[in-house]
Amino acid sequence: MNPYLAVLLLLGLMAVGWRFAKRKPRAETPERPRRAGRRVEGFQIWSPLHVRMGRGCIADHGMQYGAGFRRKEGPLLPHDPNCRCETIPFTFTGSEVFGGALRRLGEPKTLQPGFPLSAVAPALAALKRVNAEPLPADVEAYLAVAGADSFEETARGAFTAFLRERFAFLTSQERAAREREPSPGETAGTELDPAAGKTS
Ligand SMILES: [Zn+2]
Repeated sequence: MNPYLAVLLLLGLMAVGWRFAKRKPRAETPERPRRAGRRVEGFQIWSPLHVRMGRGCIADHGMQYGAGFRRKEGPLLPHDPNCRCETIPFTFTGSEVFGGALRRLGEPKTLQPGFPLSAVAPALAALKRVNAEPLPADVEAYLAVAGADSFEETARGAFTAFLRERFAFLTSQERAAREREPSPGETAGTELDPAAGKTS
């Protein structure tokens, strides 16, 4: 074979090989996911305002979770026998979220007859504030902690009446819990039944 031709052929092969090697990793790189038009999907925990709301319902009210959120999973419902929490699914475009759609999610609801709807969100915010605190000994202290005096004027009467009713509920609940506690002499009763293991 002509040595010049051989060199040319070799150079040609090298050029083709080089181009191929250059192109190959690019083909393997996956395309970046496109952000434009991506939807934000998730769930929101939503409770109506009511006197028998548990601490869990108050704490989780308004919680948003889902694949794209910091919290991937929601709480187990119901929180307690009085729980009226709902799980509301939502889906928004990125621009809707940017426009405040997540903040506006959820209609105020209440099970209290005559309670003004416009005062439901501030009342729930007040309950969230006092939720972690221990229950005060008397109702006046409870009203003070919940900020009844500084509540919006038009709904102050309704909110104060609500808090009085709630305080009565919470104290009766605490009393019931104390009565359920075993006295120091009693054991919790987890003794094993010797017959239990024999069934087959
Ligand atoms: Zn609940």
